[in-house]
Amino acid sequence: MPRTVSRISLGSRGLDLTLITLSAPAEQRRAGEKGPVVVVAANVHGDECTGVGAVLRLLPILDALLLRGTVYLYPTLNPEGLERRSRKVPEDDQDLNRLFPGDAAGSPSERLAHAVWTDVSAHTPDLVIDLHTDAPASIPYALLDRATGLRPGNRGAVESSARALGVSSGLTVLHEYPEDRYARYRLDRSLTGAVLNRLQVPAVTIEAGPRLYLDSAAVDTVTNAVLGMLHALGMVEAPAAPHPTRVDGGPWRRDSGPRASATGVLVPRVAPGVLLAAGDLVAEIRSLSGALLEEIHAETEGFVVSLAERTHVVAGVPVCTFALRE
Ligand SMILES: [Zn+2]
Repeated sequence: MPRTVSRISLGSRGLDLTLITLSAPAEQRRAGEKGPVVVVAANVHGDECTGVGAVLRLLPILDALLLRGTVYLYPTLNPEGLERRSRKVPEDDQDLNRLFPGDAAGSPSERLAHAVWTDVSAHTPDLVIDLHTDAPASIPYALLDRATGLRPGNRGAVESSARALGVSSGLTVLHEYPEDRYARYRLDRSLTGAVLNRLQVPAVTIEAGPRLYLDSAAVDTVTNAVLGMLHALGMVEAPAAPHPTRVDGGPWRRDSGPRASATGVLVPRVAPGVLLAAGDLVAEIRSLSGALLEEIHAETEGFVVSLAERTHVVAGVPVCTFALRE
């Protein structure tokens, strides 16, 4: 299997990126056949590490199994963040995943975003997969951006292609926040948001696993999800089996969960991925002496995606991320 490893350097210490290119052997391609091109990126948030493990696990698998096309793998887009266990780029404390397509003359993070964007665009990908991590208590899911920047004539085809690829991951598929909040949170300037809206190419974010260490089961989940999407493009043979936590139906979108109105200890009362009706109990707030201060209920039908990674809550804090029917 032809594999090349290269470095993208910004000339600034610590911001070099590693790029690994894997191409299917030419003899396996039919004459004139051009295989799909897929970019797999990990660790744009430097404290979200499961994708780093998934890239390392994918390398020998794809060495053996890649049938067609080319896969470009970036084990980390934020190497300093990986070193420092930091979501943001440590040099200037910016969220790299709100800066694409970046700025060649901007801040260190904007220059890094520009370098990544220039490199990713140059591959003319058919699909970009970005690997992230939600909270430890969460179901894994495939997240789809809002196609706010696409022309109406093009929008349906790109959106349905991204949705089909998300389904082929075997994971629960969630749409992003509604369009007004999607824009307000600058998610159109995330890597996948910019790929979808500027390159007009399908993009899928995978969220899985605990953040700071490589949990073997979570790495498996992400690896299988990527292979499932490569299968959908005809690049590997076996499809991804549906993940045991997958919630079908929907379409679902992610939203902030119900908020605490009391201050106290957050006691979750439901596991992520369990379908709930409006009014079902999600969590309790208790005092340190055990008194029940508040019961928090689901506001709509849906399910908890992830439980808040906290025990002490104050009024106004969402107790979970929730998926509700689109
Ligand atoms: Zn992230």
